[in-house]
Amino acid sequence: MAERERVVLKFGGTSVADLDRIRAVAKIVAHEADKGVGVVAVVSAMAGETNRLVALCSQAGDADPALDAHGYEYDTIVSSGEQVTAGLLALILQNSGRKARSWLGWQAPLVTDDAHGRAKIKRIDPGPIGAAIDGGEIAIVAGFQGIDEAGRISTLGRGGSDTTAAAFAAALDAARCDIYTDVDGVYTTDPRINRAAKKMSRIAYEEMLEMAALGAKVLQTRSVELAMAHSVKLRVLSSFGEIGAENPGTVICSEDSIVEKNVVSAVTLSRSEAKISLLSVPDHPGAAADIFTLLGDGGVNVDMIVQSPARSGDAANISFTMGEDDLTRAENALLESQSRIGFEKIISNSDVVKVSVIGVGMKSHTGVAATMFRTLADNAINIHNIATSEIKISVLIDSRYAELAVRALHTAYGLDAAA
Ligand code: ASP
Ligand code: MG
Repeated sequence: MAERERVVLKFGGTSVADLDRIRAVAKIVAHEADKGVGVVAVVSAMAGETNRLVALCSQAGDADPALDAHGYEYDTIVSSGEQVTAGLLALILQNSGRKARSWLGWQAPLVTDDAHGRAKIKRIDPGPIGAAIDGGEIAIVAGFQGIDEAGRISTLGRGGSDTTAAAFAAALDAARCDIYTDVDGVYTTDPRINRAAKKMSRIAYEEMLEMAALGAKVLQTRSVELAMAHSVKLRVLSSFGEIGAENPGTVICSEDSIVEKNVVSAVTLSRSEAKISLLSVPDHPGAAADIFTLLGDGGVNVDMIVQSPARSGDAANISFTMGEDDLTRAENALLESQSRIGFEKIISNSDVVKVSVIGVGMKSHTGVAATMFRTLADNAINIHNIATSEIKISVLIDSRYAELAVRALHTAYGLDAAA
């Protein structure tokens, strides 16, 4: 049992963009420490810094972690951004009379595997930092970085500071993990697409995971997985408000702690989708297996699959979607094997988007899909493909209907903010 309650606070790049912002963060950290809790602050690099460092790597001929022998040097370079912010925040806190110290990944230590550039956390020794905060010191941890078993610096993939924070919260048995950013929470849909978007007060881990997978860039997916596995209470909130002002943000927690479950909590839009249709594929056992083995071996991540009988003969049409980036690779792989697989024609379309509705309440409600399809039909939007999970329905539609679909569905499921 820790001697006193512990909290982990994480500050993203825009929250530490310059010295003024870091001073503002120091005030938030000090305010939290004044409540008598043990505080760990995890920091990102200053806004734009990681991009700058990645660009330097590529100019030096080392952009891809896979290209330098082990990704060691990429990690050595890009991890430096967080080192600077951690030092600056600790220094500013010390200058204001606080006991504070910076901790780099290797000092904590946060040990990872050796998949450099996208390493996974293996373990954190909670001893040293736990003792420091129990003794009244504020611990400032450099996010995103760790050390592999061979003693080389590693990084956790872009956005990895979120995962650093969730991992420390789990290891230190913290009461909460507050993720400070430049928005005041998680929204029912992207407010830039729909002005009726509402900030959610609570969202379930599973919903947040679906949102992240569908392109909402609020949190690194792994941080949510980790928080869910260890029941870490995550909160997303803004670092830009006045200190001490009401700032509840959005709490990400287990489904059980959400009393009023929405049938649909959020509507998401993913623009970088593409679709391939294969016409007149011979309809015999093994055809689909052949096609999708080929794509899998080619590293194509396939998403929504539809098979339907072709107009004539013993054949089927098969269509599927993938990320836009994978389209050319998928086309080439299929064309190379056209005679072996025996399809007649391939049609590709990257002018499509995926719109999804997400909600844990779907598990126990009927008619959710009907509402979605009815709403799209009323707006004369044609659906190409459909995919569902227990808590999500996704449709593929033409990109020109993207905004219309998001807005119409947002209204249909009662998510619009009061005007
Ligand atoms: N600075 C790193 C990045 O931009 C890690 C982070 O901020 O989460 O990806
Ligand atoms: Mg981030």
